[in-house]
Amino acid sequence: PFDAIENTGGDEVVDLSAYKNIWVFAEQRDGKLMNVALELIGEGYRLAKEISDDTKVCAVVVGDGVAHLTEECYAYGADEVILIEDPLLKQYTTDAYAKAITDAIQVYKPEIVLYGATHIGRDLAPRIAARCNTGLTADCTRLDVKVSSYIEYAKKNTTLDTSTLDPTDPSTGIKQTRPAFGGNLMATIICPRTRPQMSTVRPGVMQKRDKVEGAKGTLIVFKPEISKDDIHVQILEVVKSAKEMVSLTDADIICSGGRGLGDASGFELIKKFADKVGGVVGSSRAAVDAGWIDHSHQVGQTGTTVKPKIYFACGISGAIQHLAGMQTSDIIVAINKDPDAPMMEIADYAICGDLYKVIPEIIAEWDNA
Ligand code: FAD
Repeated sequence: PFDAIENTGGDEVVDLSAYKNIWVFAEQRDGKLMNVALELIGEGYRLAKEISDDTKVCAVVVGDGVAHLTEECYAYGADEVILIEDPLLKQYTTDAYAKAITDAIQVYKPEIVLYGATHIGRDLAPRIAARCNTGLTADCTRLDVKVSSYIEYAKKNTTLDTSTLDPTDPSTGIKQTRPAFGGNLMATIICPRTRPQMSTVRPGVMQKRDKVEGAKGTLIVFKPEISKDDIHVQILEVVKSAKEMVSLTDADIICSGGRGLGDASGFELIKKFADKVGGVVGSSRAAVDAGWIDHSHQVGQTGTTVKPKIYFACGISGAIQHLAGMQTSDIIVAINKDPDAPMMEIADYAICGDLYKVIPEIIAEWDNA
């Protein structure tokens, strides 16, 4: 009954009932969990409650000397942690991580596996999906278990004829929604015949749960069987580029500039503004394409998805591809000369005026506040 694309993986039909629980790849860098891992634990928790009372959320922590991360996973909602440690897993390599996690999946048989759509998640997930002979839906922005909640969403956000959907239909698996064709339509993808169902999910889209200090869970230690022969790439050195310093996904306040700045020097004002309010500089694609700022600052469909507490959109019209990356921000402040710009319509606070007058005034007021 679903008018959705089937993500079938291989031809083999598996015993669906053998698969249980939701796994989240708890991506870490330098022994620190990425924000997206905590968001996915939150989303996993929500989905698990919809599936059944005894469905568990399990964070998969991989690395070397990363056992300290288990507490944080429990605090954000994980019922279990599968800890996979080995000196060969200290640095991320596709081969070693894919083998270790695939082996664990084959032993424990999770129903769903979620990864952040980060560089590592996007590299790792397809390798594991191929090894497990299952499908993968990349870049999801929404996941549903219940047919009824999906229908509600589809009615509001898609042109799908929802009368064809049966709310009493037994679950065909998760409904994985992702933008397609340049964000012009939302595609829904299901995996009715293969397990585990796998998705990469954009950072900044799902909701973290409130932290519960001292929360307890079950620790499962999985010993991977990997050797140097499994790894075909040798990492000689890791060089951090200055670009990595832009942490849009973790920022509470983002000050973004667009074509309305007029030229590259406009970003000096945006930087001053961001420094004053304790924020990070973002941008629209038009500003990036004009060469005014590096792509690592770009917010939107082909940039980063963000969900800060406050998003200042300065001289940004509010094209759908930009909105796709920031519209779930807690508070949106638009500064624009054009009162009819789409950004002004979705903003919580719309300031109509020249940004070169408005921003210095906000900076001055900030000092007085
Ligand atoms: P404009 O649309 O030109 O808007 C400039 C705004 O500044 C106007 O509203 C104007 O009124 C205002 N303005 C001008 N001067 C002033 C002033 N002095 N003071 C105040 N306001 C002023 N875009 C993204 O941002 N992110 C993406 O990830 C992205 N991905 C894309 C993917 C695809 C496949 C495609 C086709 C497009 C994508 N785009 C993306 C581009 C998007 O469609 C828009 O072209 C872009 O967002 C426009 O950027 P802008 O708002 O800065 O510029």
